[in-house]
Amino acid sequence: MQNFLKVDRQEPEKENVLARIKNFQEIYKVFDKKHAKNQAERCVQCGDPYCSSTGCPLNNFIPHWLKKVAENDLDLAFKISNQTSPFPEILGRICPQDNLCEGSCTLGDDGYGAITIGSIETAITERGFEEGSELNFPGITTDKKVAVVGSGPSGISAATFLLRAGIEVTLFEKEDRAGGLLTYGIPGFKLDKEKIARRIDILKEAGLILKTNCEVGKDIEFTQLEKEFDAIFLGVGASQGNTARIGGEDHDNVFLAMEYLTAIQKSLFGQEKPALYDVKDKNVTVIGGGDTAMDCVRTAVREGAKTVTCVYRRDEASMPGSKKEFKNAKDEGVEFLFHKAPKEAKLDKGVLVLEDTEIVEADGRKKVQIIQGSESEFETDIVIMALGFNNHETPYLDLDKSKWNEIVVDDKLQTSKSKIYAGGDCIRGADLAVTAARDGRSAALNIIEDLL
Ligand SMILES: Cc1cc2nc3c(=O)[nH]c(=O)nc-3n(C[C@H](O)[C@H](O)[C@H](O)COP(=O)(O)OP(=O)(O)OC[C@H]3O[C@@H](n4cnc5c(N)ncnc54)[C@H](O)[C@@H]3O)c2cc1C
Ligand code: SF4
Repeated sequence: MQNFLKVDRQEPEKENVLARIKNFQEIYKVFDKKHAKNQAERCVQCGDPYCSSTGCPLNNFIPHWLKKVAENDLDLAFKISNQTSPFPEILGRICPQDNLCEGSCTLGDDGYGAITIGSIETAITERGFEEGSELNFPGITTDKKVAVVGSGPSGISAATFLLRAGIEVTLFEKEDRAGGLLTYGIPGFKLDKEKIARRIDILKEAGLILKTNCEVGKDIEFTQLEKEFDAIFLGVGASQGNTARIGGEDHDNVFLAMEYLTAIQKSLFGQEKPALYDVKDKNVTVIGGGDTAMDCVRTAVREGAKTVTCVYRRDEASMPGSKKEFKNAKDEGVEFLFHKAPKEAKLDKGVLVLEDTEIVEADGRKKVQIIQGSESEFETDIVIMALGFNNHETPYLDLDKSKWNEIVVDDKLQTSKSKIYAGGDCIRGADLAVTAARDGRSAALNIIEDLL
C-alpha cells in the first residue's frame, strides 16, 4: 500500500472519440485486475477515512476493499463491497465521484490525485462475477410480504436488503422494464443496460416477484397493496421535466429531455422510434447545462444529428454537472453557447430566438439577468429542454406531501402512514442514484426492524 509517490492516479482507458460516437456502448473500459491492484495500492489507509465517512452517501467500507484488492483477495473485496451497496458496479460507473468519495480522498487534497475509487469499485464486482464470486440470499424464510413501488435505484436497493432478510418482495413497475432512470434516463454510453438486467435477474433468483407494466393507482389500486402487504416502500421518483416557458414550446419539434432519452433507449431495445425523435441530419439545440443536458447532446451526436449545440444561461464554470461529462461532450463535437437564454422557438422557420445574459449581484446572490435588446436568431430544427425535474402528482397516495409534491417522511423514512415508507427522488426531488440507493437500504433496514 501507500505507493502513491511511485504510481500516479490513472483513469480507466476510454474509447477513442471517432469510434465511440457510432454507438451507445460504454466509453470507459473496466480496470483489469492488475490495474485495479496497482491503483488500490496507492491508498494510504487513513485512520479517519473521509472517503467513507463523509464522501460516500452509503458509507461504503472503501479502505477495507481497497486493501483486499491490493492483497489480491478479490473475493473478500467483492463481499465487503456488496455488503453495504446494493449495486457497487453500477454506482462505481455513474456516481459523480469528484463531489463524493474521491472529492474527500486525502491524496486528492494533498495534490497527489485521489484514488480512482469508483473505477476500482466497478472492477471489484465485474471481475468478481467473472471469477465466480456470488451474492448470497437466504431465500424467502419469513411469512412477511413487502410491496415496493418503482424499480429505480431506491426500489432495487430496498428490494435487495429486504430479500437478504428473507422477506418476500413484490416490485411494481409501470414501465416495460425495471431500472427506473438507470434504464430509461442514464444513456448506455455511461451505463450498459445489461448491468441493470443482471442485478434484476439476481434478485428474481433470490425470490423477487417483478410486475412490470403495472402502474400502481391505475392498474392496481394502492388500497389493495395496503391490504395485502405488511409494509410498502415507495420509490416512485421525480422525473416530471420542467419547460423553459417560452413561446412556441408546444411545437412538435420541442421535447423534454426524458421524452427524448426514453424514446431513444426504447428504440435501442428494439421498439420502433417515433419519427418525431429522429434527429438524423438535423440541427439540434439542447437547453440546460447539467448532466441531463450532457446526456441529451451526446445521445443526439450518436443519433446522427448534423449539429448539436448546448445553450446555457451562465458560464462554463457555473455548469452544475460533472466536468468529466462536459469534456466528453466537447470531445464528441458538441458546441456550447454560454450566457444565452431561449426567448422563443420559431421552429416553423427553423429558428430559436436567444437573448444574451449577464450575471448580476442582487440581495447578496448572483442572478442571471437578460440583456435587453440582445436578441439573436439561432438556426435549429429541434429543441430539447433539459431544465431539471419536478415531482409527479400522486393523487393515488393519501399521504402527507410538501407543496412540491414530495412525499413527507420522518427520519425512519416512514410516511404519514406507519407501514408505508418512501425514499429516493420522490422524497427530496431530483438527486442522485447513490442517495436513492441509501434511502432504499435505510428504509429496508427500518422495515426489517419493524416486521421481524
Ligand atoms: C438523464 C438523467 C441522467 C442522470 N445521470 C445520473 C448519473 O450519472 N449519476 C447519478 O447518480 N444520478 C443520475 N441521475 C439521477 C438518478 O438517475 C436519480 O436520482 C435516481 O434514478 C432516482 O432514483 P429513484 O429510485 O428515486 O427513482 P427513479 O429512478 O426515477 O425510478 C422511479 C421508478 O418508479 C416508477 N413508477 C413511478 N410511479 C409508479 C407507479 N405509480 N407505479 C409503478 N411504478 C411507478 C417509474 O416508472 C420509475 O421506474 C440522472 C437522472 C437523469 C434524468
Ligand atoms: S457508491 Fe459512489 S460515492 Fe460511494 S464509494 Fe461508490 S462511487 Fe464513491
